[in-house]
Amino acid sequence: MEKTALTAVDSWAGPQAAKKPLSRALETDHVAINYYELEPGDSFGFGYHRHPGQEEVFYIMTGTATFETEDGDVTVMAGEAIRFEPGEWQLGRNAGERQLKALAMGAPADERETELRRECSACGDRQPTRIERAEDEDALVTICEECGAETGRYT
Ligand SMILES: [Zn+2]
Repeated sequence: MEKTALTAVDSWAGPQAAKKPLSRALETDHVAINYYELEPGDSFGFGYHRHPGQEEVFYIMTGTATFETEDGDVTVMAGEAIRFEPGEWQLGRNAGERQLKALAMGAPADERETELRRECSACGDRQPTRIERAEDEDALVTICEECGAETGRYT
């Protein structure tokens, strides 16, 4: 048995106000659970992405999420949930005017094979992207696989 509280879990750096890995605190084996807080303009992920080996469910607790999907934008209101099957491209964001709180659940827990695409101003358009730890400060950076440009930095 493991028990935790949001207040006991440190937030990770990323394109959102808070991302708390509850499953890490609970030492889960088969499911990844993250709690998110998104201010207007924030995103759940670093870019348009898919998890080839992981299904993912988002439950929106407060606010409204807008998910870019292969079928266009999908709005998910508080009290609603959305599921992406393995391999589906998606990116959720807070396009509303108030804070968004949500839980994201992915299974299996391991998402090492995530494919990420992100806008690169040098290349133009979305390009395959990787995430690295910055060498000069405690930050995560997104790097364009095509040209090596840094396209984002999150502390
Ligand atoms: Zn580039």
